[in-house]
Amino acid sequence: MASKKAFITGITGQDGSYLTEFLLEKGYEVAGLIRRNVAGDLGNIKHLRDEIQLFYGDLQSPESVAQALYDFKPNEIYNLAAQSSPLASFKDKIGTMMITGVGAVQVFERAKDIVPEAKIYQASTSEMFGETKEVPQTEQTRMIAANPYAAAKLYAHQMASIARRDKKKPQFICCGILFNHESPRRGINFITRKVSVGVACIKNGKKDKIPLNEAGEPIVQNGKIKLGWLGFKRDWGYSKDYVEGMWLMLQADQADDYILSTNKTWTGEDLCREAFATVGIDNWQDYIETDDRFVPPVETGPLMGDYTKAKTKLGWEPKTSFPELIKMMVTSDLAKFS
Ligand code: NAP
Repeated sequence: MASKKAFITGITGQDGSYLTEFLLEKGYEVAGLIRRNVAGDLGNIKHLRDEIQLFYGDLQSPESVAQALYDFKPNEIYNLAAQSSPLASFKDKIGTMMITGVGAVQVFERAKDIVPEAKIYQASTSEMFGETKEVPQTEQTRMIAANPYAAAKLYAHQMASIARRDKKKPQFICCGILFNHESPRRGINFITRKVSVGVACIKNGKKDKIPLNEAGEPIVQNGKIKLGWLGFKRDWGYSKDYVEGMWLMLQADQADDYILSTNKTWTGEDLCREAFATVGIDNWQDYIETDDRFVPPVETGPLMGDYTKAKTKLGWEPKTSFPELIKMMVTSDLAKFS
C-alpha cells in the first residue's frame, strides 16, 4: 500500500510539530505550509527538516494553499494554522478573522476543488463555548464566543459543518473541539508557558536575555511575573496526547466533531502553585504581580470538557495529568533558561 500523505498548516506551531513526529512514526509522508518569514528558523520543527516537505504559503493567500495542495496531493489535511491567541485577538480582530476564520474556509474550498477525497481535520477550540453556564461542556453545549479568536473559530467550525452536510459535494471534515493543551513547545505568550519560563528564570536567578511577554517587557521584572486575574478556570492537557486524537478522528468512517479534554478543571492559581512547587517554592503569591493589561475584556469559562464521545467512538483518552504537565514544562525551561 502506498504511504499516506498528510499536509499540515501551522506545522511550526506546538501541535503541528508533535503531529508531524506522530505521523512520521506512522509512516506518513508529511508536508507543511510555512510562512516565508520563518524560513530561517524553523523553531519546533528544526529537527525534522530532512524528513518533511515544506511549502511557502499563508492562509491569507488562497493561491499559495492551492499550489501546495496541487503539488503534494495529500490524503489527509490538518488545518492547525491560526492566529491562536484569544487575548491578542482583541487587538487584531480583523486579522484574526482573516487567518483563523476565513483562512480555514479557504483551505476547505481549495481542498474541495483540488483533492476532494482528502479527509480534513479542523482545529476548533473550547474557547467557542465562551461564557458558558453548562459544566462540563459536551459536543452539544451551546456555543457563544467571548473573544474575537473564538468567534473566528466558530465561523470556521460552522462552515466545516455546512461543508460536511452538503448534499451535492459533501466533504469529510472533522472538527476537534480541543480544550487547552500545553507542552514545553507552547508559545511564550500563553499563560502556562509564561509561568513556566518565569519560574525557571526566578529559580535560576537569571538577570538577562529573559524572554518578553505580550507587552514587550521581560516576563520577570523585579523578581515577579506579571499576570492577569488568576481565578479563571481551564481544562489543561498535554499537546502530545491530543495530536493522536486528531489523527484518530480522520481514521473514523464518518466525519464528526469530538471534544478532546481531561474532564478536570484548574484555576490560574493552581497553575502558579504547581509550577512554583516544582522548584520547591511554596509562597508563590510573593512572585506574582497582577496586571490588568493581561485581563481579557470578556472572560471565557469555566471550561471543563467531557471527552466521553472521543473515548467511546475513537478509543482516545488523555494520558498526562495537569501536575505532570506543569512539572514537565518547568523542568524543560529550567534547562533552557539557565
Ligand atoms: P500555535 O503554536 O500558535 O501555532 C500556530 C501556527 O499557525 C504556527 O505554525 C503559525 O506559523 C501558523 N500561522 C499563523 N498565522 C498563519 C498564517 N496567516 N498562514 C499560515 N500559517 C499561519 O498553535 P497551537 O497551540 O499549535 O494550536 C494549533 C491549532 O489548534 C491552532 O489553530 C489553535 O488555534 C488551535 N487550538 C489550540 C489549543 C491549545 O490549547 N493549544 C486549543 C484549541 C485549539 P508561524 O510559525 O509562522 O507563526
